[in-house]
Amino acid sequence: LAHRPELDALETARDGYRDTVFTAAPLIAGDTPPGPEVQTTNPALPSDTVGRVRNASADDVQTALAAATPWTASPSERAAVLKRAAALYEDHHARLFAILAREAGKSLPDAVGELREAADFLLYYAEQAEGLTRPPRGIFTCISPWNFPLAIFTGQIAGALAAGNGVLAKPAEQTPLIGHAAIELLHEAGVPREVLQFLPGDGPTVGAALTSDPRVDGVAFTGSTETAQAIRRAMADHLSPDAPLIAETGGINAMIVDSTALPEQAVRDIVASAFQSAGQRCSALRCLYVQEDIAPAFRKMLFGAMDELRMGDPWHLSTDVGPVIDAEARDGIADYLAAAGGRVLHGLTAPQDGLFIAPSVVEVGGIRDIEREVFGPVLHLATFRPNQLDQVLADIRETGFGLTFGLHTRIDDRVQYVTERLAVGNAYVNRNQIGAIVASQPFGGEGLSGTGPKAGGPEYVARFTQPEPVATASGPAG
Ligand code: NAD
Repeated sequence: LAHRPELDALETARDGYRDTVFTAAPLIAGDTPPGPEVQTTNPALPSDTVGRVRNASADDVQTALAAATPWTASPSERAAVLKRAAALYEDHHARLFAILAREAGKSLPDAVGELREAADFLLYYAEQAEGLTRPPRGIFTCISPWNFPLAIFTGQIAGALAAGNGVLAKPAEQTPLIGHAAIELLHEAGVPREVLQFLPGDGPTVGAALTSDPRVDGVAFTGSTETAQAIRRAMADHLSPDAPLIAETGGINAMIVDSTALPEQAVRDIVASAFQSAGQRCSALRCLYVQEDIAPAFRKMLFGAMDELRMGDPWHLSTDVGPVIDAEARDGIADYLAAAGGRVLHGLTAPQDGLFIAPSVVEVGGIRDIEREVFGPVLHLATFRPNQLDQVLADIRETGFGLTFGLHTRIDDRVQYVTERLAVGNAYVNRNQIGAIVASQPFGGEGLSGTGPKAGGPEYVARFTQPEPVATASGPAG
């Protein structure tokens, strides 16, 4: 995170874009006739018009598919262009931070982290491009979620481009403005327009068309597990059986806090993981298990820390918890909390205007009581006795998800015992159960949480190339 004086400077620069109305429209290699536009508003401030959006029509999708072509530049030329794009992202940070705040509800520190991650993906995959020896697959469709609309969007595209593929990029319908801004910078850096095309629109129309056309050779997807399953079915019906689906999906992430944990540290990590970004991170803690004998005191500390959280417009640096992404999300989470009724142990009061959900804690018997991933600031709380630890681990395994897991303990043997019994992509011991660091801490899940390879890891770009030829009996002996 930037230091306070740097944040002040960033805040001042970002202020220049407080009232700008941004635009998003298809960026394709071919004609795109004018079509209907919709206005989009700020989830924290309904009176703030953020942008005008024109989604891709069915004709735009066909034009883009017909024009799509792999990137024939040499690996080192591709790497140079991607590195130039990272520098352009940095140059345009103030505008990108403003769009991230007003379109996606991102605080300035969150936006700084997201731009850093996007630039790191570009630089890291550029380096991997230079070592590639195998040809690209051809044309990749990249479909991204709204919760990291710059970092994940850029990471997928950069991986596919680094390997030399042509890309058809579809942003989430909630965040086309930041996607449009990113694609313009990638074009400015030197990615040819027919190699990288941008098709804003919703999942069932534009998304479905881009994942069920035989001209597409592979799909990179990040979003919910249900959508990944729908895409896999569409691909099986229409695409070559060899076309890969690289999917990063959801999770019901657990943490165990035993009676030897340092409570202050655990509480700080829990509040950050469960409520930062209003809980709209795939890595966020959803189900906390606290050892029964410390539970009453621990609950009191946790609720006290929650009471300190300030909710409001993420444009202000003093805000800890911003809005959720849209009215559908707000209503869905509000209904979930209403149904939980008396099991809601603690909740704050949300601001009236804007799409806010107050950080809340819901009591459960265990992770089995959680029927789905609730993508917001809702933490489920259970207790366990030491002789129930194996059952807790079995229950976590049985969800089928395996994205993140946290453990707070000072029993050394327990770390290995617990992590050996779980299949999760990212385990965090005595530290903040949040996110990833490109290159040093790659991110990705197991089971229902994703296919691998991990984003920001050494195998990512190679997955976008043709597979190694399989050695046959007549091939070279090894
Ligand atoms: P979503 O699945 O609703 O949408 C993701 C994208 O898929 C959007 O662009 C959407 O338009 C598109 N889409 C929807 N239906 C489609 C279809 N039939 N065909 C093709 N595309 C379609 O997810 P979301 O609400 O945008 O994001 C939240 C989810 O993403 C959560 O489940 C979260 O855990 C997950 N997520 C996972 C990771 C990770 O790295 N594992 C990271 C971020 C978010």
